[in-house]
Amino acid sequence: MNKQFAIGIDVGGTALKCGVVAEDGSLVYCFTEAIKRESGEAGIVEQIAECITKAAAVVQDKGGIICGTGVGFPGIVEEDVVIGGADNLPGFEQLHLGRLLQERTGYRTLVDNDANMMGMGEWIYGAAKGCSDIVFLTVGTGIGGALVINNQLYGGYRNRGTELGHIIIRQGGIACSCGSRGCFEAYASVAALIGHYQLLKQDMPDTVDGRHIVEGYFLQEDAAVAAMAYHFDYMATGIAGYINIFSPQKVVIGGGISEAGDFYIREIAARVAQLAMPAASQQTALAAATLGNKAGLQGCAAKVFQSLTGSTPQ
Ligand SMILES: [Zn+2]
Repeated sequence: MNKQFAIGIDVGGTALKCGVVAEDGSLVYCFTEAIKRESGEAGIVEQIAECITKAAAVVQDKGGIICGTGVGFPGIVEEDVVIGGADNLPGFEQLHLGRLLQERTGYRTLVDNDANMMGMGEWIYGAAKGCSDIVFLTVGTGIGGALVINNQLYGGYRNRGTELGHIIIRQGGIACSCGSRGCFEAYASVAALIGHYQLLKQDMPDTVDGRHIVEGYFLQEDAAVAAMAYHFDYMATGIAGYINIFSPQKVVIGGGISEAGDFYIREIAARVAQLAMPAASQQTALAAATLGNKAGLQGCAAKVFQSLTGSTPQ
């Protein structure tokens, strides 16, 4: 019998990742392209379609069957329609992206929010495999999130919710990218970590990123230690809230900083233990994501296998 594959597309603000994924989650082919932002909405849709066609040719060369395509897209997505809110991609409002790509490529195409797709990947193939209830966070410039409740990806009514980066943890606090103030993201993102480090540090080097601060933390540099402690405190504050609401089996933390080392999860978990209600948290484990920057592609594929073939990916 011919093997089945799904095509995954992960659309970011600057780059587009495309991959071919087998049912066991293995990535058999993958490439990244810079988004042709200058070509506008129609040009970007065409670029995505061309990537799907290129990936499909690889599957056909292997004699495989394509079950469909999954696309992870920033912002709000309802039933394969991009509603809007992708701040880093102008246009893309009320766009029937799933239908357009399907007409253009001939393959059934499912579209969901990019963080939902990453959470789906970690749930089916990664750190939360086998769990029925998870909270997933991706910590980077902002904080994205996904929820799995009782074995289903949950996005709220018409998929408008689970903006886990935008729970308000400090009334009237720091301005957030969403237009509000005091959001979890404004305190616990890597951008917030860098901002706080810059406040503490007088002789700033020109370029600072999360990695630089983690290195300083290992060297016991005062500003880095203090900035990381602030980051851990706020991560734990948000996560304790999620645990009290959802009592998940796992809270999975993704994004580059989650790969900093075992200490990262350990420091947050120790603080969460002080903050969350014991009954809600006793079954919850914190874990680093395991799929890295391929989680979105694998999640896109998992969604295709689950929705279009009716099979539970293994
Ligand atoms: Zn916000």
